[in-house]
Amino acid sequence: MTAGRYVDTLPPLRWDEPRRSYDVVIVGGGGHGLATAYYLATRHGLTDVAVVEADYIASGNTGRNTTIIRANYGIPEAIRFYEHSLELYAGLEDETGAEILHQEKGLIWLAHTETALRAERARCQLNTACGAETVMVTPAEIKALVPQIDLTGGGRYPILGASHHLRAATARHDRVAWAFASGAMARGVQVVQHAPVTGLLRRGDRVVGVETPLGRIEAGTVVSAVGGRVTTLAAMAGVRLPIRTHPLHAFVTNDFGQAFPRIVSDTELLCYVSQTERGQMLIGAEFDAQPSYSRRSSIAALRAYAAKVTHILPFLRDLRILRAWAGSCDISADFSPIMGATGVPGFLVTTGWGTWGFKAIPAGGEAMAELIATGRAPDLIAPFALDRFARDHVLADQGSTGTR
Ligand SMILES: Cc1cc2nc3c(=O)[nH]c(=O)nc-3n(C[C@H](O)[C@H](O)[C@H](O)COP(=O)(O)OP(=O)(O)OC[C@H]3O[C@@H](n4cnc5c(N)ncnc54)[C@H](O)[C@@H]3O)c2cc1C
Repeated sequence: MTAGRYVDTLPPLRWDEPRRSYDVVIVGGGGHGLATAYYLATRHGLTDVAVVEADYIASGNTGRNTTIIRANYGIPEAIRFYEHSLELYAGLEDETGAEILHQEKGLIWLAHTETALRAERARCQLNTACGAETVMVTPAEIKALVPQIDLTGGGRYPILGASHHLRAATARHDRVAWAFASGAMARGVQVVQHAPVTGLLRRGDRVVGVETPLGRIEAGTVVSAVGGRVTTLAAMAGVRLPIRTHPLHAFVTNDFGQAFPRIVSDTELLCYVSQTERGQMLIGAEFDAQPSYSRRSSIAALRAYAAKVTHILPFLRDLRILRAWAGSCDISADFSPIMGATGVPGFLVTTGWGTWGFKAIPAGGEAMAELIATGRAPDLIAPFALDRFARDHVLADQGSTGTR
């Protein structure tokens, strides 16, 4: 546990009044918008950039997630992309000088049936081939890694084995946003809070800026990084996206006296657990089936999540639920992200981050920055272009979300 590291000084953050125009306006001050701004400044020297945020930075999913960073995906394109992000995360404290409380923990992904075991074996092989360290572990090895686990699954969900993704990690979510924000600001990027974009400025086919209650802001390029609000913003540019917005819930308990150093996830019960830097147990599960923009917690979700997770970790029954919350997730039709051009000149998107986009913040931001600076999508994200749906090249990876 790193409780001692928890309290320290806030990073230098500064809020700006918007100028009349910028080279680049990024709509949305979540992790993806801020990381894109940071890498534009640090990798490409582009600082005539504004991030325009409707509320306060990281008020969306970036400040609401369960902070799991992993690369054990089910298709090569995704494994390579998330593995690169995992590497960037591992070096982020050194690069930015900001403490993001990054901790490598390893993730155990439990299987209760022969079919699930086969799927995990295939995952291990593909992960290994693409550079993400994932190995199978037996029930005895699982018990050694996580002594608190009930291998009988409460008598109903016996654990037959698991994949163990060795380099999976967690990092404090709001500190990640602050690290990118302060790094970008230090180089001249402006961050404007409490300025919802209410319209897009058009000149012919081209998007040339945004409208906000603080006035119009012109831009050479406008990037949408608005999380669950993306279909509304894209519609202003006449772009229809294969995205639906669904709520995802999470909760924390009071402190657990023992150290719980791994992340435990369940392929079939669809729930996952880790311990925060403070010692609280942090629990998440599947997203709501009903699309909605609601960010209200629900007793139904709490009850369902708690029932599942206590089958495998019965000690959780003795803890109390301290806080619950929800975010609105931009779920793409193939459960993979969508990054890049939209077909509308001057308007780019980074979306489809659903319930899995926290881990992608560094790699997504770095790649979007390269695309903006050079006009060419780097190889790492080229497969994730929006036009894949029209080309019948979807990147179906539902089984890797852990939340569906
Ligand atoms: C409960 C929960 C648990 C999760 N757990 C994980 C996890 O463990 N690991 C993982 O990898 N991912 C996880 N995720 C997903 C992850 O949080 C998101 O994919 C990621 O944070 C998306 O970042 P973003 O910057 O795209 O969006 P956001 O962080 O949502 O930022 C978008 C920003 O845009 C702003 N905005 C919206 N509309 C406008 C507008 N018109 N004008 C200006 N600004 C606007 C919003 O206010 C918001 O601040 C989880 C999500 C939730 C909700």
